[in-house]
Amino acid sequence: MAEAAKFDYDAIIIGAGLTGMYTMWKLRQLGLSVRIIEKNGDVGGTWNMNRYPGCKLDSESYTYAYSFLPDLLQEWDWSNEFASQPEVMEFFSRAADKMDLRKDITFNTRVTKAAFDNAANSWTVELDNAEALSSRWLLTAVGALSNPIMPSFPGMDLFRGESYHSYYWPHARSGFGGKEVDFTGKRVGVFGTGSTGVQIITEVGKTAEHLTVFQRHPNWCAPLCNKPIEPERMAEIKARYNDIFARCESTTSGFQHDFRFASSEGTTAEEREAVFEEVYNQSGFEIWVGHYADMFTSPVSNGYITDFIAKKIRQRVKDPKIAEKLIPKDHGFGLKRVPMESGYYETYNRPSVTLVDLVETPVEEFTPTGIRTSDAFHELDILIYATGFDAIIGGLKQMDIHGIGGKTLKESWADGPFTYLGLQIPEFPNLFTLVGAHNGATNCNIPRCAEAQVNWVTEMFTKIIEQGIERVEADEAKAEEWTQHVYDVAAQTLLPTVTNSWFWGEFGKGPKRGHKLLVYNGGNPAYRERVSKVKANDYEGFVMS
Ligand code: NAP
Repeated sequence: MAEAAKFDYDAIIIGAGLTGMYTMWKLRQLGLSVRIIEKNGDVGGTWNMNRYPGCKLDSESYTYAYSFLPDLLQEWDWSNEFASQPEVMEFFSRAADKMDLRKDITFNTRVTKAAFDNAANSWTVELDNAEALSSRWLLTAVGALSNPIMPSFPGMDLFRGESYHSYYWPHARSGFGGKEVDFTGKRVGVFGTGSTGVQIITEVGKTAEHLTVFQRHPNWCAPLCNKPIEPERMAEIKARYNDIFARCESTTSGFQHDFRFASSEGTTAEEREAVFEEVYNQSGFEIWVGHYADMFTSPVSNGYITDFIAKKIRQRVKDPKIAEKLIPKDHGFGLKRVPMESGYYETYNRPSVTLVDLVETPVEEFTPTGIRTSDAFHELDILIYATGFDAIIGGLKQMDIHGIGGKTLKESWADGPFTYLGLQIPEFPNLFTLVGAHNGATNCNIPRCAEAQVNWVTEMFTKIIEQGIERVEADEAKAEEWTQHVYDVAAQTLLPTVTNSWFWGEFGKGPKRGHKLLVYNGGNPAYRERVSKVKANDYEGFVMS
C-alpha cells in the first residue's frame, strides 16, 4: 500500500498470461496494490486463446508448470508427457484460483496508450473503455506471440465459407462464439506450416473430407513422441519436481534436454547416425537441443543433422515429389523454431490431402467458394489461417507508449529493440518489459525462465520498497552495450543466415533497412549469470532515485 493515495495502483501489469499472473502474486506479497489489464476474457494468455485442433505443449508438461505452487503440483496429474491445450489452460486457471488473482484483473480491456509523467515519476495508462489509470510502476507481460497476423490476398473478403485464425479459435469465453468447428464432410484449406499449422494439419487431416495445405515455405519438423503418463510415473514426477526444475534452470534452453556433445568434429558417419536415430525417437526437443551443440555454429555440423532429417522425410512421405516439397531448401535444421509433430508427414500420404506449393503456383484470387492458384481452383468450405504473429514486439507496438518528453517507443526502436537486459528501455523509466525483446526469458522454456525473471525483478522491488525508490531507469550506455552484445552473440552462430522467421523483425529506413534479431540467444545460464552479477553489483545499469 505504498502510494495508493497518489496513484490508482502501485503497479499496473499488462497481460494476465503466465508471466503477468506470477508477477501480480509476487508484487502483492510485497504489499503493493496491483491491477492487471488483460485484453482477453480470461487468464492464461496463449493457452486461453490458442484453442485450435491439435494444440498441445511441446515442452514436457511437468516442466511447464508453476514451480511455486507445490500444493497444486501435488494435486495435479498430467495426462500426457505433452498436455493438450484444455489441460494446460485448466492448470493455469486453477493456479489463478489458488492465488485469487481474478478479482484484481480487468478483462476484455486493452491498453491503448501509456504515458510517463516525468515530474510525478508515474505512468498513466488509457484503456479502450475510456478509463485512465495511474501507477508508479508499469510492467508489461504481453506475450511473445499474442498479436496474430493475417495474410492479404486479392478478394479475401469474398470467401463465403468459415474462416478462422488459429489464435482466435472460437470458444465460449473468447467473444468469437462458443461452437465446436466440425470438419466432417468439409473441404478445408490451411495457410501456414509453422508449429501451429503442423498441429492443425495433422489433426484436421484425420476428419476433413478434403484438406488442402497452402505452403509458402516448409519447415524442418521432428517427432514429438508423446505418450500417456501412467500413475506410477506421475507419482515419481511429483516426488522429483524440485530436481526437474533445478535441471531446467541449468540447461541452455530451460528444458530438461541439453547438448550431449560440444561438437560433431572427429565423429564418424556411423556414430552420428546412431546419435541422431536415438534422439529422433526420443520425446520432445532432444532432437533440437540434445546432441551436437555446434549444429548452431558450424555449417558442417548443421549439415549432418539437416541431411538426417531430410532422409527421414523422404522415408516417411510416399510420393517423392511431395517429399521434396516438404524438405526446406533455404535453411538448415533448427535455425528456425522446430515444429514438433505427431504424424505430420504421414498426413500427406492420405489421398484426401493436397499440398499446394505457393512458390510454384501462387494464389491469384479468392472467390466466394474457394481459392484460385496459378494452376488450379480449390473449392473450400473452411479456411484456417495459421499464419503466425507479429512476434515479440507486436504486443508493445499495439500500444501508444510515451516515455520522457513524450518520446515514443516507435521512435526509440526505429532501428530495432533497444533495451538493457531486455528489461528496461532508456528514457522509459519505471517500465519493465517482462519476457520481451532481447530478454533471456523469451527464447526459452517460457515458464521456467519467466519465473526466474519475475523473481529477479521482484527482488529489485524489495529494494525499491525498502529504500523508498521512486524511479528506476536504464542507463543508455549499458543499453547500447547490451543491445550490441545480443547481436554479437548471434553473429557467432548460424542464426543470421535465416532471417525469415519470427525470431527476426525488419527495422530502419532506406538503405539502412534490415533484419534485427528480436531474441537473446546466449542461453539460459548465461543470462542468469549476467543478471545475477548485475544484482550483486547493486543493480548496475539501473539508475535508481
Ligand atoms: P509461424 O511459425 O510464424 O508460422 C507462420 C506460418 O504461416 C509460416 O509457415 C508462414 O510461411 C505462413 N505464412 C505467413 N504468411 C503467409 C502468407 N501470406 N501466405 C502463405 N503462408 C503464410 O507461426 P506459428 O506456426 O503460429 O508458430 C509461432 C510460434 O508459436 C512457434 O514457433 C512456437 O514457438 C509457438 N507455438 C508453440 C506450440 C507448442 O508449444 N506446441 C504450438 C504452436 C505454436 P513462411 O515460412 O513462408 O513465412
